[in-house]
Amino acid sequence: MSSRIPIADLGREYQDLKPEIDAAVVRVLASGQYVGGPEVEALEREFAEFCGTPHAVAVGSGTDALRFALTAAGVGSQDEVVTSPMTFIATTEAISQAGGRPVFADVDSASYTLDPALVERALTPRTRAIVPVHLYGQTADMDPILELAKRRGVAVVEDACQAHGAAYKGRLAGSMGAVSAFSFYPTKNLGACGEAGMVTTARSEIAARVRRLRDHGQSEKYRHVEEGYNGRLDALQAAILRVKLGHLAAWNERRRTLAARYRAGLAAIAAPAGPGPLRGPGIILPTEMPWARHAYHLFTVRVADRDRVRQALSERGIDTGLHYPVPLHLQPAYASMGMGVGSFPRAEAASREVLTLPMYPGMTDAQVDRVCDALRGIPGMR
Ligand SMILES: *Cc1c(COP(=O)(O)O)cnc(C)c1O
Repeated sequence: MSSRIPIADLGREYQDLKPEIDAAVVRVLASGQYVGGPEVEALEREFAEFCGTPHAVAVGSGTDALRFALTAAGVGSQDEVVTSPMTFIATTEAISQAGGRPVFADVDSASYTLDPALVERALTPRTRAIVPVHLYGQTADMDPILELAKRRGVAVVEDACQAHGAAYKGRLAGSMGAVSAFSFYPTKNLGACGEAGMVTTARSEIAARVRRLRDHGQSEKYRHVEEGYNGRLDALQAAILRVKLGHLAAWNERRRTLAARYRAGLAAIAAPAGPGPLRGPGIILPTEMPWARHAYHLFTVRVADRDRVRQALSERGIDTGLHYPVPLHLQPAYASMGMGVGSFPRAEAASREVLTLPMYPGMTDAQVDRVCDALRGIPGMR
């Protein structure tokens, strides 16, 4: 009897790095410096180098990173910010909490990232920023979005919370927009043992503003030039993240290898991707877009009879996830926007069919094969 396959396995990641992580934790505990300080500054330097950006500012979470990035990019009262309905609610919470108003544009049906042509139609004179979400570890189609933003004088704020180490035409996620946000939530490709996040930018005035926002708006001790937040990163998380950052490139490569194995193992039941809902049997594999180096944060497929397939996998000892079962415009929190079913048909079709398969660097080839065998064996799959 083989054990269950989880969708991620964080305990195992710790076991693999135990000596290094334990040493880092003890070093911080003995240092007496627990919030900010040299570990946090070192992580900022190392992560900036990893992303190829001049500045990185560590904050308390990915949501903090988005909120501070948006404010520093100039989003304020009633400014419209165009983003995808196919994301985690943190993206739009940050827009609202920065004072702005989320405006949705539908996604491309192959990449599930913002369709640049639909972004253009969503722009108004009130638009202040565009937030492309690099979903599942794949960047949005950035060149047309950056070109459009430049032409219309709006800022691009990347939501790179799922895309550590992903690239677009050779440029790394987090290095293309005016400013970008990363999450180090434990399940992300680079995850802390708690909450953590990072803002990256090439612009020193944006970096300085984010440093101020994360620390109660202080420009120097007890001089508060604006109200800010308690959004600092603690040294324990920084020290742990520094250990893990050293493994991130290799982990991402392993994810890509696992993705290739899934593709081979599922080729016999693969259905062509197309707009609208999936008709007929089979499974739509993730599309690696021509521009992308996919970091496979999630390996999310589509199946027509999603809940039945999910149940069948569970009975065979395989956990799966839903990213995301309800697009944001249909969430109760946004009922007042008045956007019903049919507003963003591609995101809606995808949300009914998406199914996230197990994917983590410590996953074995044999485990991938077990998932593929189980899927191929489900009645009605071919
Ligand atoms: C995880 C995530 C966030 C939020 O990050 P937290 O660290 O959990 O606050 C924001 N956007 C996306 C797309 C995410 O996946």
